[in-house]
Amino acid sequence: MELLGLNVEQIREAIAPLGMPAFRAKQISLWMASGVTDFADMTNLSNKDRELLAQHHSVIGGSIESHRISQKDGTEKFLFRFEDGAFAEGVLMQYEHGNSVCISSQSGCKMGCAFCASSKVSFTRNLTAGEMAYEVIAMEAASGKKVGHIVLMGVGEPLDNYDNVLAFIRYINSPEGKNIGMRNISLSTCGIVPRIYDLTKEHMGITLSVSLHAPDDETRSKIMPINRRYSIKELMEACDYYFRETGRRISYEYALIRGVNDSDESCDKLIKLLRGKNCHVNLIGLNYVKESPLLPSDRMRNFCDRLNRAGINATVRRKLGEDIDGACGQLRAEKNREEVKSKR
Ligand code: SAH
Repeated sequence: MELLGLNVEQIREAIAPLGMPAFRAKQISLWMASGVTDFADMTNLSNKDRELLAQHHSVIGGSIESHRISQKDGTEKFLFRFEDGAFAEGVLMQYEHGNSVCISSQSGCKMGCAFCASSKVSFTRNLTAGEMAYEVIAMEAASGKKVGHIVLMGVGEPLDNYDNVLAFIRYINSPEGKNIGMRNISLSTCGIVPRIYDLTKEHMGITLSVSLHAPDDETRSKIMPINRRYSIKELMEACDYYFRETGRRISYEYALIRGVNDSDESCDKLIKLLRGKNCHVNLIGLNYVKESPLLPSDRMRNFCDRLNRAGINATVRRKLGEDIDGACGQLRAEKNREEVKSKR
C-alpha cells in the first residue's frame, strides 16, 4: 500500500497487522512530509520495522521525470511520472509573500475548454491524494525552497476529482502532513456547480477561484463546454452561497481573448454581473497554446481600468515561467513517455 497522503489514523491501520506500535504512524507521516521516500532512511525506526515496512508498503510510486528552471524569473516546472505511467505537472513560483506551488489534480482533463492546453491531450485518470501530496513534497525537496501556498490550478478539474482532492487538502493542512493553513490553499474550478455547494458545506476556509472568462452564456458556452451544463446564473448563485457561508471572497479568473470577451460591451456585462459582490477579478493574458486559434487581447489595461472605475476590484496577473511553458493553461500532462523524451 502507498502510505503518502494517508492520515495518521489510516497509517496506523495499515501498519497494525505488521505488529508495529501505534506511535510509529506519526513518525512515518513526519518523515514522508519531509520528503523521505525510502523507509530505510527513517532513522528513528528500528531496523526491523524499516524492513517490514519496505516488504509490505511503499511511500509513493512516483518520480521526477523532468525539472526546468526559468531564466527569467526563477519559476520551476516539474513533470512527474507515476507507477502506471501517468504523468502530472507542477510549477513552483516565488512571490514576495513566499513560495507557491501550482499542482495538477488529474492526469489530463475532461473539461474541453477551447483555450487550454490541458484539454488537448486525452484524459488518463484521477490523481490520488498521495500523488498530489507527492507533487508538493517533491517540488519542495528538489528545489530546496519551503512551500507556503498551494494552488490547485494545474492540469485537471479539481472538483471532478472531489474526494481525492478533499483528502489531499486535509492531509496537506494537517500537522503531521505539511501543516499549510487552509487560507494558503486555493482551488480553481471551471464551475461544477453541485460540487461548489458540497465544498461550501465542508467549511474548510480555502480560497475558491472560479474560471469565468465570459460574462454571458452565449460566449461562455462557446469557449467552456461546462457552461452548457450549468449556466452563469446557476454558477453565480453557487458562488454567492460559498461567500455567504464561508466569508471567503471569490476570485474570478478572466483570460482576455481578442475579439471574444475583451470588448467594452463584455466589460460592462461583467460589471453588471459582479456589481455589489465582494469579489476579486484576476485578469489573465491569454497564453499561447499551439493547437488553439485564439489570440491574446491588447485591451488588458483598458479592461482592468474600466472594471476598477466601476468599483470592481480587478488586477492583472503577472506572467511567470513563460520561457518554460509554465504559465496558466500551458500545462499538459503528457501521456506518452516518448513524446516527453523527444522534447528534451
Ligand atoms: N480546471 C480548473 C483549474 C485548471 S486551469 C479551472 O478551470 O479553473 C487554471 C487557470 O488557467 C484557469 O483559470 C484556466 O481557465 C486558465 N487558463 C487555461 N488556459 C489558459 C490560457 N491559454 N491562457 C490563460 N489562462 C488559461
